[in-house]
Amino acid sequence: MSAISHNIKLLRKDIPSLVRLVVVSKHQPSESILDAYNSGERVFGENRVQELLEKQEALPKDIEWHMIGHLQTNKVKFIAPFVSLIHAVDSLKLLQEINRQALKNSRTINCLLQFHVAQEESKHGFKDIKKVNDLLNSEEYKALENINISGIMGMATNTISTSQVRNEFKMLKSYFDVLNQQHFSSNKNFKEISMGMSNDYPIAIKEEATIIRVGSKIFNHV
Ligand SMILES: *Cc1c(COP(=O)(O)O)cnc(C)c1O
Repeated sequence: MSAISHNIKLLRKDIPSLVRLVVVSKHQPSESILDAYNSGERVFGENRVQELLEKQEALPKDIEWHMIGHLQTNKVKFIAPFVSLIHAVDSLKLLQEINRQALKNSRTINCLLQFHVAQEESKHGFKDIKKVNDLLNSEEYKALENINISGIMGMATNTISTSQVRNEFKMLKSYFDVLNQQHFSSNKNFKEISMGMSNDYPIAIKEEATIIRVGSKIFNHV
């Protein structure tokens, strides 16, 4: 058995069946991704458009590709034909462009709203729920018919303090609950909380993540 399939087997033991695993394959060569594919994995995540395009072209067509990194509006058109979930949406402008490109491709694109809850400075992600409430209440948002907001996404601080990480995941879960109650109570498609990576996925699962995104634990033996 290869190291990668061994790592996946161990990881899978930790993941309840209702939690989805996104195998984060950024920087990995095709052989390593195929190794994970041959171990049964079908959901892969990339954080750069160019790399995502090359891999989608080269690898089996039944892979479900997720864009997990920051996405520039001018690059949406390249991934719109096939992307299965865009994790890091943080503006109305980006949502509008995703909608435009989804329409061109006669499809609906699933998106997650990204929240910034970590201590590290980052330009990306909503920092409070008010902006998101305003967005979801706006006429501009209501006019978008080719996007589906299926939940939220976030990253915890990179720290050894498990209590801090836990609190940040609890924060994400509370944002999810508020949005679910205020905007999506009659919409069963709003159901995902994407949080947890190699170092903190066990905490994320306890705090009710529905999607975890794991890379180095699978590919780099951490
Ligand atoms: C790289 C990355 C991950 C995976 O991180 P690991 O620590 O390698 O598991 C998850 N989410 C995002 C947004 C990433 O960029």
